Amino acid sequence: MDQTSDTHWIDQNGRAWKKRPAHETGALGRCPRCGEGHIFTGFLTVRDHCEVCGLDYSFADPADGPAVFVQLFACVPGVVFIVMLEIMARPGLWVHLAVGVPVLILTAILPLRPIKGWLIAAQFTTRAQEAGTAALWAKLHGGEPRG
Ligand SMILES: [Zn+2]
Repeated sequence: MDQTSDTHWIDQNGRAWKKRPAHETGALGRCPRCGEGHIFTGFLTVRDHCEVCGLDYSFADPADGPAVFVQLFACVPGVVFIVMLEIMARPGLWVHLAVGVPVLILTAILPLRPIKGWLIAAQFTTRAQEAGTAALWAKLHGGEPRG
């Protein structure tokens, strides 16, 4: 059974993994427990489990959280930049195609992976759980299920 201490996660095989904050593991695509394995198998596809420590990623469900963060903190500044470019410089259509399209792609797509990884790691470290998944969390973290 999994156990945890204040400073380490202890997996089902008794190995201890130093606890790290979510921004040091998930945001880099690393496993929130061991910090060595990978969360993703593709750009945004979550693996079944960590290939190093065996952490089962079935708890990982950030839903549309990454998209909300990207919209709020990346896309809005990108669109404001494009609108200001039009207002200030009135460039030709080709400038908008050459500058605006890459800006939107970069601000919309690139942050998705680190934000999704960060949210998954935060789910693990804070033990965020959906109602009815207490047994899964007990299996992952050891100890008694929380209410
Ligand atoms: Zn791992």
